[in-house]
Amino acid sequence: CGIVAYTGHREAFPIILKGLKRLEYRGYDSAGVALLNGDLSVYKKKGKVAELEEFVAGQSLDGTIGIGHTRWATHGEPNDTNAHPHQSFSGDLAIIHNGIIENYESIRQELVNKGHQFTSDTDTEVLIHFIEDIQKNSNTSLEEAVRLALQKVVGAYAIVVMSHKEPKQLIAARKGSPLVIGVGKGEYFIASDATPIVEYTNEVIYLDDREIAVIDGDQLSIKNIDSVPKTPYIHTIDMEL
Ligand code: GLU
Repeated sequence: CGIVAYTGHREAFPIILKGLKRLEYRGYDSAGVALLNGDLSVYKKKGKVAELEEFVAGQSLDGTIGIGHTRWATHGEPNDTNAHPHQSFSGDLAIIHNGIIENYESIRQELVNKGHQFTSDTDTEVLIHFIEDIQKNSNTSLEEAVRLALQKVVGAYAIVVMSHKEPKQLIAARKGSPLVIGVGKGEYFIASDATPIVEYTNEVIYLDDREIAVIDGDQLSIKNIDSVPKTPYIHTIDMEL
């Protein structure tokens, strides 16, 4: 339902939390964040963003890169485990996802046959296990694994993926669900609409369908799902709200 992600020089958690609150108008049933700071830490909770905030109080929430989500359940009831972010089988990858992966059952069955165990009932968890499995089997970059996985996926999605092994990377992709990238000075914001972004920057890139954006440190590159590079078009939006 709602997506917020950040990478840059500031603490990610407060920016993500505020962004999730700005997206509350969309309606949702649960909320969660993943932060990278040496470890990949995931906190998620059924209910309001305020309940997530209470739940994480007292935790060390350091990290200058992170992803956050408000969920509107389509596959699996609203509860703590089905909330996003979801992690891969090894725990190294985390994903947030808006939309529906329609062919998740057949992918899930293939992965179960390979020994994967799932903790949630979501289509989203299947996608992140699938990305990891492709990365392992073809010994490729995370970016390439995301691309290969998305080529096999039927459905609509806006996703953001991050990895314990690529601590400066955020990978974002969309098909049928909107995704906006805010370009700051040495920092990037990703959200399902511009509302969480406009207080930090008025320069945004609207990702197109079938595009994959890779943010690596202060570098951003966009390719389409067939690996064709795209020149990002930066819009300047009206800051008056
Ligand atoms: N299909 C996913 C789920 O049920 C994502 C739902 C959403 O867009 O929030 O968890």
